[in-house]
Amino acid sequence: MRILVLGSGGREHALVWKLSQSTVVEKIFLVPGNGGSHQEKKVTNVALDTADFPALVKFATKNEVDLVIPGPEQPLVDGVESHFRKVGVPVFGPSQKAARMEGSKAFSKAFMQRHSIPTAKFRVFKADQVEEAISHVMTCGFKVVLKASGLAAGKGVLIPQTTDEAIAGLREIMVDNVFGDAGDEVVVEELLEGPELSVLAFCDGYTIIPLPAAQDHKRIGEGDTGPNTGGMGAYAPAPIATPALMDLILKESLQPTVDGMRREGFPFVGILFTGFMVTKDGPKVLEYNVRFGDPETQALMLLLSEDTDLAEVALACAEHRLDSVSIKTKPGHAVSVVLASEGYPGSYPKGREIIIGSVPPNVVVFHAGTTLSDDKVVTSGGRVLASSAHAETLEAALDAAYSAIENIRFDGKTYRRDIAHRALRSTSV
Ligand code: ATP
Repeated sequence: MRILVLGSGGREHALVWKLSQSTVVEKIFLVPGNGGSHQEKKVTNVALDTADFPALVKFATKNEVDLVIPGPEQPLVDGVESHFRKVGVPVFGPSQKAARMEGSKAFSKAFMQRHSIPTAKFRVFKADQVEEAISHVMTCGFKVVLKASGLAAGKGVLIPQTTDEAIAGLREIMVDNVFGDAGDEVVVEELLEGPELSVLAFCDGYTIIPLPAAQDHKRIGEGDTGPNTGGMGAYAPAPIATPALMDLILKESLQPTVDGMRREGFPFVGILFTGFMVTKDGPKVLEYNVRFGDPETQALMLLLSEDTDLAEVALACAEHRLDSVSIKTKPGHAVSVVLASEGYPGSYPKGREIIIGSVPPNVVVFHAGTTLSDDKVVTSGGRVLASSAHAETLEAALDAAYSAIENIRFDGKTYRRDIAHRALRSTSV
């Protein structure tokens, strides 16, 4: 099999690392890849633009690609799937219509309401309804969260502490357009409380098979402080995700989502990544993403068993026969700790040389914001690398990931030392 993967992050490096282990995979093209992905066997970085769909299709046809795996959401929301469908190349990823589940929060909330999927109470306002939105937050009787409906690179959510802050937030989104077009519609929803869970699930339009639930760490600072980032680390399985809770999530949320999407005419193929808040009234859906998560994927790929062939599973999803393949996970725990550039998520320097020394055998270092410059690997992004480890216990996985970090050097290296602190706390009580 010859596979084309789109993206350049740690998520895509983790995907090609796992795909390259497949005995049926002959070649992997990664567009555009990063400063480390080409070191995986069978992988070639290809310098094309992931937004230039005609060029991608031309490349895929010329190079006899059998399967396309888009990593990030933007090409999916922009309809990359139909470009390949028209030339008969299967895509492990949703159609543009199905990708609206991530591309429009107003759309996904209305979908959840139609299908009685547990989620926070909400109302949607158009940009010219700022006065109605203000009157709603003043009278609704609960604390609110404000969400720009469109894609805002994970930054479109405001959690105001007071009603005055909520009113100011609405004006920022609806009048000052701080999130640009993404704020053309605003979802005002009830603030939920509880631990969060990320559930990534393989889906072929009919069957949905979740991977062990993960937890990520969005804030830059230890103890979950400071501004939000793309994600500073993740671990799986999350101890709060008991088999009973996962059964409930599958029955109340995941299967109804997949069935509802198919019945409404936009079946879901790919990875459905559902964010949950586990409230005292049960798990409620916060959001859908229509692709693998970053950094959850850098942990989850290490949890897939050696005989689980990601390429076969992805092709089976695209061909609506997920029940014909087996997905197994290893016992034990996986963690991924992100190494960022100093200053991230604000502005940060680039071009700093990275030296990676020896790492324990159960650690894989995935590249993200790295590039090659005169044969040296240098920093080129905010999130630079992820040190991922698998071990029998969570503590051992963390020890391995952190000990590898000591042997990775670049000026301004920043990381959180408390990845998985919630899980450690919950297992020590
Ligand atoms: P992501 O980067 O996860 O894609 P996003 O911008 O698409 O983020 P959401 O996942 O909907 O937005 O929200 C981001 C974060 O805001 C959530 O992970 C959660 O911490 C918080 N949040 C969202 N909705 C609520 C809610 N109703 N109550 C409490 N917190 C919430």
